[in-house]
Amino acid sequence: MSETKNYKEALQHPIFNTITQAAASLTLDCYVIGGFVRDHILQRGTAKDIDIVAIGSGIELAKEVSKLLPNNPKVQVFKTYGTAMLRTDDIEVEFVGARKESYSENSRNPTVENGSLQDDQNRRDFTINALAINLASKNFGDLLDPFEGIDDLKSKIIRTPLDPDITYSDDPLRMMRAIRFATQLNFKIEEKSLKAITKNKDRIKIITKERIVDELHKIMSSNTPSVGFKLLEKTELLDYILPELIALKGIDEIEGQRHKDNFYHTLEVVDNISENTDDLWLRWAALLHDIGKAPTKKFSKKAGWTFHGHEFVGSKMVFKLFKRLKMPLNEKMKFVQKMVLMSSRPIVIATDVTDSAVRRLVFDAGDYIEELMTLCEADITTKNPKKFKKYHNNFKIVRQKMIEVEERDHVRNFQPPITGEEIMKAFKIKPSREIGIIKEAIKEAILEGVIPNEHDAAHKFMLQKGKELGLIIESNKDTK
Ligand code: ATP
Ligand code: MG
Repeated sequence: MSETKNYKEALQHPIFNTITQAAASLTLDCYVIGGFVRDHILQRGTAKDIDIVAIGSGIELAKEVSKLLPNNPKVQVFKTYGTAMLRTDDIEVEFVGARKESYSENSRNPTVENGSLQDDQNRRDFTINALAINLASKNFGDLLDPFEGIDDLKSKIIRTPLDPDITYSDDPLRMMRAIRFATQLNFKIEEKSLKAITKNKDRIKIITKERIVDELHKIMSSNTPSVGFKLLEKTELLDYILPELIALKGIDEIEGQRHKDNFYHTLEVVDNISENTDDLWLRWAALLHDIGKAPTKKFSKKAGWTFHGHEFVGSKMVFKLFKRLKMPLNEKMKFVQKMVLMSSRPIVIATDVTDSAVRRLVFDAGDYIEELMTLCEADITTKNPKKFKKYHNNFKIVRQKMIEVEERDHVRNFQPPITGEEIMKAFKIKPSREIGIIKEAIKEAILEGVIPNEHDAAHKFMLQKGKELGLIIESNKDTK
């Protein structure tokens, strides 16, 4: 065994001294363990949550810590798990008694007994998450690293402390966690582990959708989400989680005509967009923007490969996918649907940028025009530098035109210049079909550039339109 390393410098937050004191008065040993230690060594910024393992009652320790803190923060006790949590200024501290676990076939919730630190480290998911630092005053800062987790941090390896086959089978959520950590930290998953994940992939079915989605969100929020999706694909977990993406895989060739592999294209788009936005839902939109291509794919001699209407079909698929994964069916989903539905619009007009096309684009995208443009720019994955430049340049022109058109016509968050009431008054009519027809005609005239978005012009247009519909103008009635 190598000499004991000391990480006292990780324990500068005053909470650690308080915990040491509390542990001394209860005469128990305790350690800081897991993510906090890992992230300190990786220098991943300051942690917001700290996990403490006590050799004894974690709940008692938490209560003792609270007593010693100036404002005696509330201790939240989770009896069934034997854990307790308290918040003090900027951090959340979770306390758990060291435990030994045994698993049954159908659940990821093990039966639990009290155990030693070593027992507790054995039940941790990865060697890099099993690192513990002693908080006892005598050995304050000493590292306990039974599985060479430090070496794995250095060589950037995700490895399980025990047999991976058993580790993943016991708690299949760990498969998602392995892939998530590999993505967040840019680590490799050890070959033995990858094999074990592939072997146990069907066990993912016992994990709730919410937990799977939590991990997916973390993968999506990483710098390079494609790392995670490639691992999910390789281990075949993606077949279960997002079969819509698997359906995009592969290149077909008929009579020498090929289409691109839309799975790998999609992953490139997600990586691209992640350089320009942290908006999780816009990243989801990038991931799903082409899912309608699988069910709409066709080949004809004349047109080659086509995906007619894939945006519409894709936006409908978004709903089913969100529902299946128990994701929120709220305005976030509607936003993703809208992005998918509109994902080709800027591309279509980029080759021929007319005022009216831009006005319609801004009108339809409303508040999300920026996000839509960000998505379309990320969608440029051509490896041909000339085309790459040309496409980006086209979008620059669209953006410029958007500014000009918006300054003049204010169609973003369009408010009709003429209200229904004004129409009723002008023709002295009651609520009726004609009002809708006139309003729609005014909107169309503005979008087409027939009239400017101004009250007087719209009023004149309204009178003319009403006449065409056979309505009689109020002032004419009076003179009769
Ligand atoms: P982060 O907070 O960045 O997601 P973390 O490692 O702190 O990373 P948590 O989910 O907060 O992850 O869990 C804290 C610790 O608990 C982990 O470091 C690990 O030791 C242990 N742990 C969490 N989930 C599992 C699991 N499913 N199986 C085994 N150990 C786990
Ligand atoms: Mg954590």
